[in-house]
Amino acid sequence: MDYKLWIDGKWEDTQGGKMMEIENSATGEKIARVVDASREDIDRAVQAAKRAFYDGRWSKKTPGERSKIMWKLADLIEANAEAIAKLESENTGKPYAFVSLGGDIPFAVDNLRFFASAARDTHGSHAGEFMTGYTSMYRREPVGVVGQIAPWNYPFMMAVWKIGPALAAGCTIVLKPAPGTPLTTLMLADLIKESGIPDGVINIITGGNDAGQAIVEYPDVRMVSLTGSTATGKKIMKTAADTLKRVHLELGGKAPFIVFDDASPELVAAKASLAAVMNTGQDCTAATRLYVEKSKVKVMQEAVVDAMKAVKVGLPFEDGVQMGPLISGIQRERVAGFVDRAKAQGAKILTGGGVPKGFDKGYYYEPTVISGVQQDWEIVQQEVFGPVVTVQEFTDEMDAISKGNDVLYGLAASVFTNDIGRAMRISSALEFGTVWINDHLPLTSETPHGGFKQSGFGKDLSAEAIGDYQITKHVMIAQG
Ligand code: NAD
Repeated sequence: MDYKLWIDGKWEDTQGGKMMEIENSATGEKIARVVDASREDIDRAVQAAKRAFYDGRWSKKTPGERSKIMWKLADLIEANAEAIAKLESENTGKPYAFVSLGGDIPFAVDNLRFFASAARDTHGSHAGEFMTGYTSMYRREPVGVVGQIAPWNYPFMMAVWKIGPALAAGCTIVLKPAPGTPLTTLMLADLIKESGIPDGVINIITGGNDAGQAIVEYPDVRMVSLTGSTATGKKIMKTAADTLKRVHLELGGKAPFIVFDDASPELVAAKASLAAVMNTGQDCTAATRLYVEKSKVKVMQEAVVDAMKAVKVGLPFEDGVQMGPLISGIQRERVAGFVDRAKAQGAKILTGGGVPKGFDKGYYYEPTVISGVQQDWEIVQQEVFGPVVTVQEFTDEMDAISKGNDVLYGLAASVFTNDIGRAMRISSALEFGTVWINDHLPLTSETPHGGFKQSGFGKDLSAEAIGDYQITKHVMIAQG
């Protein structure tokens, strides 16, 4: 099937763009073609969003009116959840059960409903007299046209996480899904129309990195929100400097998973294996670095290896499948490269480290546990973005904190202990945007998600995210 671009509430042909093939990651089959948008296409999309912003068809609606329409969109997504989940699995190879049921699509619906409600919570700074004879008031206004650029790991959920707070704030949007995974985001277009969101408020442009770059360069785009790699975040920040636009960056991660000697090996094995292989490890919060207190390394390591060996790898629509393929051949080469280089440095592969037997189609890679690594090795320092964990030991709290923090990233971390005082000390000392105690992965729409350090800045999820899409105006009234 060939897809067009969604501009100003209509399916539009490209003007000068090429077509790109979209494949199924579980089989490698070509399943669709989408447009690799040209600068001309980006221009039409931004201009549509600009018209929609300045005539106030969305920004001047009351919060209550915006909220009602957003609720309608959430209801429509829910009503179409099965079809969206099926297409998402066909494109990415994700286990269908993890996308439907309690997975990505229900979370996206919940997220949009949260932002539909939060749109109406307009509390803020007070008006008052701060100079004799003058009254000052604060207005929280939408930033304007925002460019939103999404990654391939949770295509539909990331698209919804992005549009929710921007819509709640009253912005208009040019949304670009990742080049290989645009299909469910394009499915959103007709639902947007049906929900009553006015034409031009959300425009969906498919394309590669050049299309993303064109959005960032465009002067009329007032803010760019990226979920993607740290390298892309740095490029976008440099490009955005030329037009001094606001950037909102949700970037890579390298989460530590810190285990003290009082933690239960069963709990640690269950949580570590799930958090390492969820979405085939292509998760910015994935557990990637296990640090275990010295006295318990052997027992914890054995439990984790057994749990990783037991993970059921398979096709997306098979029963009981816990892990699908990596997203592409390039990604599998990347992951295998990290593991092979660690091996060459002297690391020990305790399980995995290759393509699972019987999976000659698609881009599968085994759940992998690696020991015998040093803190400064690439495998410990860099984001692998595959189902791979390293295991190291630590001696005491200070050593655990120091090793946990010793990466460029700062997105998520976890601590396993039954000592509440220790859990509090460590959660305060870890420089990460989310710290879990005795768990790893769960997020909620109400609570903020975002990075420290080179994992970026700005929050997704929570009412804080709406603030990122607003700008404060001071209005000062001379009483005389
Ligand atoms: P990526 O950085 O390669 O691409 C992300 C998006 O940016 C794509 O749409 C791409 O086309 C676009 N892009 C690339 N270069 C660009 C440029 N110069 N200008 C404008 N746009 C450009 O990331 P990916 O490989 O799709 O996704 C994986 C990365 O995303 C991982 O690093 C992961 O940790 C991160 N991620 C972070 C979060 C979070 O919440 N912090 C969530 C999911 C994924």
